[in-house]
Amino acid sequence: MKTPYEDFGSMVFSEREMEERLPRPVYQSWKRTVVNEGTLDRVTADAIAHAMKLWAIEKGATHFTHWFQPLTGSTAEKHDTFLEPDSSGQPIARFSGKMLIKGEPDASSFPSGGLRATFEARGYTYWDLTSPAFIRDNVLCIPTIFVSYNGEALDRKDPLLKSIKAINDASVRLVNLLGDKDVKTCHPSVGLEQEYFLIDRAYFDRRIDLRLTGRTLFGSSAPKRQELDDHYFGSIPGRVAAFMKDVNEELWKLGIYAKTEHNEVAPGQFELAPVFSEANIAVDQNQLTMDILRKTAEKHGLACLLHEKPFDGINGSGKHNNYSIVTNDGQNLFSPGDKPAENIRFLTFICAFIKAVDTYPTLLRLSASCTGNDHRLGANEAPPAIISIYLGSYIDSILYSIYQDNGSASDPSRSKGDFNPITNLSYVPHDNSDRNRTSPVAFTGNKFEFRMVGSSMSAAFPNTVLNSIMAESLNEISSQLEGIKYIQDIRDKALQICRQIIHDHKRILFSGDGYSDEWAKEAKRRGLPSVRSFIESTRILDDPKVVELFTSLGVYSQVELSANRRILEELYIKKMGIEVRTMLQMTRKDVLPAMVAQLKFCSEAANAAGKVCPAYLKNLQKSLSTLIDSVDEAYKDLETTYEAIDTVTNPYAAGLEMYTKINPKMDALRRLIDKFETITTPDFYHLPLYEDMLFSLQ
Ligand code: ADP
Ligand code: MG
Repeated sequence: MKTPYEDFGSMVFSEREMEERLPRPVYQSWKRTVVNEGTLDRVTADAIAHAMKLWAIEKGATHFTHWFQPLTGSTAEKHDTFLEPDSSGQPIARFSGKMLIKGEPDASSFPSGGLRATFEARGYTYWDLTSPAFIRDNVLCIPTIFVSYNGEALDRKDPLLKSIKAINDASVRLVNLLGDKDVKTCHPSVGLEQEYFLIDRAYFDRRIDLRLTGRTLFGSSAPKRQELDDHYFGSIPGRVAAFMKDVNEELWKLGIYAKTEHNEVAPGQFELAPVFSEANIAVDQNQLTMDILRKTAEKHGLACLLHEKPFDGINGSGKHNNYSIVTNDGQNLFSPGDKPAENIRFLTFICAFIKAVDTYPTLLRLSASCTGNDHRLGANEAPPAIISIYLGSYIDSILYSIYQDNGSASDPSRSKGDFNPITNLSYVPHDNSDRNRTSPVAFTGNKFEFRMVGSSMSAAFPNTVLNSIMAESLNEISSQLEGIKYIQDIRDKALQICRQIIHDHKRILFSGDGYSDEWAKEAKRRGLPSVRSFIESTRILDDPKVVELFTSLGVYSQVELSANRRILEELYIKKMGIEVRTMLQMTRKDVLPAMVAQLKFCSEAANAAGKVCPAYLKNLQKSLSTLIDSVDEAYKDLETTYEAIDTVTNPYAAGLEMYTKINPKMDALRRLIDKFETITTPDFYHLPLYEDMLFSLQ
């Protein structure tokens, strides 16, 4: 019998597959190119393409595609078949090195934020040698970057790869300076925990809001929510277990180590976590994972909701981004070792991270934001919109003692109370990997967990930001250490730098309850920015400091940053527009007719009862009648506000109007419809309810 793991990696053209199938010199030439980040010569590319084609056809592939990640945040592909007529008209399967390396999709419909006029709409895709090709269904997928005719990035992968180079250079530089000269390369490692909801497909199909916007635009809470916490880590329901088994098998075939799966806090909510891998691979694999979750759900008569907040009143979904930096000899630079206080390298890297986060909080906030995540961040259940770092008491106390050694222990303004000011809010941790789930950035033993990222988002940009801000921070430290002759002097200086960083950036450290109002007040006192919404954070891409960060590291050009800002703003407006129009349509077609039908029924019943009409009926009649008027009014209000904003041309201004004016009006309409839901019955109202959708898979 076949073992469950036998097919692991069978659909990946892995390095091992290459080594086996390619002539030795070709394989070595490919390997050299990857290590030196060079370009493949034509002969090598042709040989790889040939081997790849034979492998793919053996596995049943008929087509190939350059698989890329346009700025929409999803993935794109255009399929071409291998099959062509040869010179005598006979069919032949062809795949050349040129086809492998470079593609030219008609890119005019992908967002470019003005980077490309339509008359030069060409975009090019180039094979990303660091991420292996794989087969999905009958298609050989080649991971590629996507750039414009002039070489500007039109995707999220190209900047990510550049940021990986930046963090590599910066980490190697500092590690070498601190004495470990053997380290030649460093790469960021990323593990992405993916949360999602599952509901029965039949309900999904009947709700146009779920289909078009990914979330329920209204729906009153079920009598039961998540108060019993009985779903969290509970036994996995049978239908879901069968689904997960299929998902795992699909992921394993693609070489993705799907490791843990469990029920999440909200009913109908689950999580999947793979084993961490190199950032670029982890990001690609997460895109694939989201796709596989969606498609496998369909096969099981389920719908997988990746939206950040599909249901009101219960938890939303995130994507926890676990981040560390690892050397070529396998040392994790965030690993404290046995005696972290003495491990100057660990301390320096931790302090560099603290400085990076405190220097660029709004950029980080933006990197984790999308239209859907606005409903989750800061909603007392997910990380707050204020960025802070939780280190755990152990690391906290080490930093504190270093800070105190400054000779400032007697200075009352620098007492421990100042280091960690709100003692009465303090969380009591147990070890150096203890948990504080309310923190947006938490140190968890040997990695930082960035918890703000939205569940539906690509993890490319958050990691591009983490790599870049960290690279800058490390480079600044290295500049201060360079030129010092003796290693002990270098270490002493590094410790001094750490002390200074703690002094300058301790405001970002917080171990209390991040969901509390006290923290919001305290954060304000500390001068930490609290950016309420996604749209308000887009401006940061034009901030001179951010432009300097990215351009000096060669990650983004200024033009690319402005274009990205525009694309994000336009996407926000478009998504909000779809939500508004969907809500208006549902109100018109599903809600108001149901209200009228119920009112008619009540009126007829009241007439029939005549003089003995019960008060209950009269009241219901009255409530319905008033509600209809209120819904109608709220509907018109939303519609006219939306139409007025539609004429605003500046995307930022339009986005801001959407956020400040449309959101409250959508909320107002929602409350009324939710109220109606509580007094209506399936005889009149036909949309699936929260109790149907959330509790049917138990
Ligand atoms: P929890 O839900 O408690 O945060 P999980 O085990 O569900 O923990 O997920 C932790 C994630 O972090 C996994 O994807 C794991 O592979 C990843 N991870 C573990 N160590 C590292 C590391 N050094 N660098 C990056 N990611 C890591
Ligand atoms: Mg986690």
